[in-house]
Amino acid sequence: MNRKRILIVEDELSIAELERDYLELSDFEVEIETSGASGLERAMKEEFDLFILDLMLPEIDGFEICKKIRGVKNTPILMVSAKKDDIDKIRGLGLGADDYVTKPFSPSELVARVKAHLTRYERLIGSGMPENEVIEIRGLKIDKTARRVYVNGEEKNFTTKEFDLLTFLASNPNRVFTKEELFSRIWDMESIGDIATVTVHIKKIREKIEFNTAKPQYIETIWGVGYRFKV
Ligand code: CA
Repeated sequence: MNRKRILIVEDELSIAELERDYLELSDFEVEIETSGASGLERAMKEEFDLFILDLMLPEIDGFEICKKIRGVKNTPILMVSAKKDDIDKIRGLGLGADDYVTKPFSPSELVARVKAHLTRYERLIGSGMPENEVIEIRGLKIDKTARRVYVNGEEKNFTTKEFDLLTFLASNPNRVFTKEELFSRIWDMESIGDIATVTVHIKKIREKIEFNTAKPQYIETIWGVGYRFKV
């Protein structure tokens, strides 16, 4: 059986080493990064089975790393913080961490939680659940199954119609659709209503996914015709 790999991102090396020592005793392979930037880089590039992220890190904090990881991976994440209040706050934000641990904690407690989350995650993967249907184009990720949209790893909130419209266009790239076509497909009412609704929704979608709405890189306007999703 392969040893499970864990990445600890923690700026206090003594804490990280303590965590590592205990985890290694339980036969985990442990890597440590002491800065948010290097931790994020490795988290994105390498395969790990679990992440332990300290919340308070200089420059890129645990928050940011958690959000970025969640944009692309379902790997279990344990967030560690020294302050009780922060834990309550981040729980409320629903960043997608699987567990929150307050410092100081007992190392054996941490190991127990790590094991529990790895077991739970393996069950989830092994349960034959089909993978989510995902469209990824450059920095844009549309999870059709979960109905969630991420731009460069950051989740954006979409209304139902905005999501349907974006997903329809992205699922049919390089084709021009007229506003009338889009309206009848997404709003499901034959030519009743206002096709200006389409324009309004395209504008809102662009504000969420485009770096520069004046020069859209995803949804192009084809003047006099309609819209086209560019891949
Ligand atoms: Ca810290």
